[in-house]
Amino acid sequence: MKRYFFKPGTKINLADWDPNETAEFDGGKNASKNALEKLNQELEPLQELLYAEHKHKVLVILQGMDTSGKDGVIRHVFEGVNPQGVRVASFKVPTPIELAHDYLWRVHQQTPGNGEMVIFNRSHYEDVLVVRVHELVPKSVWQKRYRQINEFERILADEGTLILKFYLHIDLDEQKRRLQARLDDSQKQWKFSVGDLKERQFWPQYTRAYEEALTRTNTSWAPWVIVPANRKWYRNLVIGTILVKALQSLKMKLPAFDGDPKEITIE
Ligand code: AMP
Ligand code: MG
Repeated sequence: MKRYFFKPGTKINLADWDPNETAEFDGGKNASKNALEKLNQELEPLQELLYAEHKHKVLVILQGMDTSGKDGVIRHVFEGVNPQGVRVASFKVPTPIELAHDYLWRVHQQTPGNGEMVIFNRSHYEDVLVVRVHELVPKSVWQKRYRQINEFERILADEGTLILKFYLHIDLDEQKRRLQARLDDSQKQWKFSVGDLKERQFWPQYTRAYEEALTRTNTSWAPWVIVPANRKWYRNLVIGTILVKALQSLKMKLPAFDGDPKEITIE
């Protein structure tokens, strides 16, 4: 899975990254179901260990164009984890109160505490993406944010947060198919938004904004992963695999029992 990471400082051109790729899994879609189930089963005890040890904090950031699969990842990769230790924070259009503060204010409040895993469905990156594309603040303001974001994430990392950032990479054709599928299926129509059609017109601008964000905020303490996401099954396997490996690398241990259990009598 190393191929989906890149060195800090690398200039990202998304045209060089194939959204259809399935190179790290030979089995294809049919076999992917079992593989994902296995990952789900590995994730569950790791998350329990995270919760029990109460030492590390885990932050998973999901970004991607509309329909890129952020909701799908949350549903499928995190299936089976204990809701007590996992939380999803979704970042929508800011409220007036949020807008009255700096852009990291609402984000910092949602970051994980000890033993907790938090999944960001969108994040502070919107403040260099949609905000940049639609010029919601002047360039002089959003330009500073790459550095600010790196420093913010550095604080979180220094204070014990494992940060993983996933960019779900789909192409314009795949977005068309997914939007059409939402229209065609009465069970999915609720997800269709005319606003998404408007945003689709800005695809080249979003691509440029993502390329700059990926290029300038890929750090050793908060790395980006560019996930080929045209195939949903592959996207889930990539993220699940990387997450399980990252949690294993924390070498977590159950807290030692304080005392000798044999000396305790339960009346
Ligand atoms: P969804 O993820 O489909 O629920 O949509 C949430 C919407 O909120 C997207 O269109 C985002 O671009 C938008 N959004 C999230 N954060 C911001 C922000 N900081 N400023 C403006 N729009 C935002
Ligand atoms: Mg949407």
